[in-house]
Amino acid sequence: MDLLIASSNPGKVREYQMLLTGLPVNLLSLTDVGLGDMDVEEYADTLEANATIKAHAYAEASGLPALADDTGLFIDALDGRPGVYPARYGGPDLTMPQRRQKVLDELGDIADDQRTARFACVIALGYDGKVRTVRGTCEGRIAREEVEGGSGFGYDAIFIPQGYAMSWSQVPMEEKNRISHRGQAAQLMIPVLQRLIG
Ligand code: IMP
Repeated sequence: MDLLIASSNPGKVREYQMLLTGLPVNLLSLTDVGLGDMDVEEYADTLEANATIKAHAYAEASGLPALADDTGLFIDALDGRPGVYPARYGGPDLTMPQRRQKVLDELGDIADDQRTARFACVIALGYDGKVRTVRGTCEGRIAREEVEGGSGFGYDAIFIPQGYAMSWSQVPMEEKNRISHRGQAAQLMIPVLQRLIG
């Protein structure tokens, strides 16, 4: 079955290839189906609503089942900020390192046990005018400073998953995929896709 990964991020198709290993699906990117220029505005205040808007729009436009995801980062001591728009935290002019630094500055030197945070990811599957959503979460805490030298993206360098002494930028990719918000959500999406495949 052809399945559209509704993202303009080229890394995401590769990531889903890993997360959905074993399913008889042929993953296509937006570019593969000629929708590379189609932008769907995210404006809702929940991850479910944003993922649903995208999955529905891309399934309609392509005529294929479409998977869309939306991720939030919720830090308890910051009243849940950055929230559902982590990529925009601090405004449009900041770089990602500046957004991470903003989070570190806002937390200051508060104690480790008050630096608790979680990533949440909602994956939505749009098909035949319907949408199904699943949610995965990963608990952890925000580091006291940026961890240098690791790989990763976004807030990886300052997020320490629960049970680990290192940040996500130092956790091997396969292991991150197993415990991450997206990995957890993908596990829940597998049976939904299996039912669709029949
Ligand atoms: P998206 O909804 O998947 O585009 O994610 C929104 C933003 O959340 C990204 O631009 C990253 O800044 C951040 N983010 C999402 N997933 C991760 C992750 O696994 N590690 C670190 N940051 C992430």
